[in-house]
Amino acid sequence: MLLYIHVPFCRRKCRYCAFYSEPAGRDGTDRFDAWADALCLDMGRKAETLGRPAVNTVFFGGGTPSLLSPSIMGRILDRAAALFSLDADAEISMEANPESMTEAKARGFRAAGVNRVSLGVQALDDALLAAVGRVHDRAGALEAFWALRRAGFDNVGLDFMWGLPGETLQGWKAQIAEAAALAPEHLSCYGLTLEEGTPMFQESATLNLPDEDDAAAMYEEGGALLEAAGYRQYEISNYARPGRECRHNTGYWRGEDYLGLGPSAVSCLDGVRTTQPADLASWLSAVREGRDAGEREVLGFTEKAEELVMLSLRTAAGLDTAAYRALTGRDFLADNGALIAELVRRGMAGLEGGRFFLTRKGMAVSNAVMEQCFETIPQEAER
Ligand code: SF4
Repeated sequence: MLLYIHVPFCRRKCRYCAFYSEPAGRDGTDRFDAWADALCLDMGRKAETLGRPAVNTVFFGGGTPSLLSPSIMGRILDRAAALFSLDADAEISMEANPESMTEAKARGFRAAGVNRVSLGVQALDDALLAAVGRVHDRAGALEAFWALRRAGFDNVGLDFMWGLPGETLQGWKAQIAEAAALAPEHLSCYGLTLEEGTPMFQESATLNLPDEDDAAAMYEEGGALLEAAGYRQYEISNYARPGRECRHNTGYWRGEDYLGLGPSAVSCLDGVRTTQPADLASWLSAVREGRDAGEREVLGFTEKAEELVMLSLRTAAGLDTAAYRALTGRDFLADNGALIAELVRRGMAGLEGGRFFLTRKGMAVSNAVMEQCFETIPQEAER
């Protein structure tokens, strides 16, 4: 099982962000302790209910996990180790932001058991960082990366966004080349999406965003550049040195069960998806009262099949057509024959060893491909 822990605090909200987090201010210590106490309580109850399963990855996401102190992180990890059969070589990842990662903290997180850090750099250009409301600047991002290295982290990912207001293709390629030259083990490159309810969504009509051609070139040429630098693309937005793929996210894309703890966290266990309330106060009250305030959804046959297609086609490994047949009783290649032939002819997809996968060119239009594949999934009533 994969364990996800949602840390619902950020120093301040970035202008594009739709993830649940609350502004922590400079000293959120009391709130961090209250959240951590409730989290450990909830973890204990859920570990018992689930029969203390084996956990092979732990992922602290957010929010900004690096706002926590290493001692809080250590307390949560000790509790997880006591409650679950935590693999000796478990991947323990945390997301971090440059403004809250010093060398001393990095040493503390490492001593607490964290062995992989995903650093939210987003851009190495001060004007772009300011345009999207990031707290840190370029110098701070570079300093945080070197602080992690000095503290001994040998598994560091850098997270970037492309397609920012005012960004050019040349500028993006220069940043990505600079990032690769730092030689992190992993790079994530997400295209900016304007999410409803965010300040940038409100301003979408006036934002100077790259046009469609430039955005497509950022995705394809940025990916080619990373591949030439020794990074393998293993998912739509993720690149890694061989053997340094994020095991937690890979498990998620493979459809493994995961337990999510904390406000807004999602779990998916035995075909039941539960989403915790995206509100710290409601989540805290529920945990203290011994209630599970999560919204439950039992995944039906169609949702499971769509999820299998959607998660698999995100990855370079693609869809295992035998697994699809086992779940749906249908032949994916026959049902989608015309679409597949066209995609292969255009260099957007491939077939190998019973797997159907998208190339980078195909991944750029994966949503449209998935929509077409969904149409051939039989509905619950037709089975
Ligand atoms: S730091 Fe991350 S989670 Fe927090 S507001 Fe910014 S993008 Fe969202």
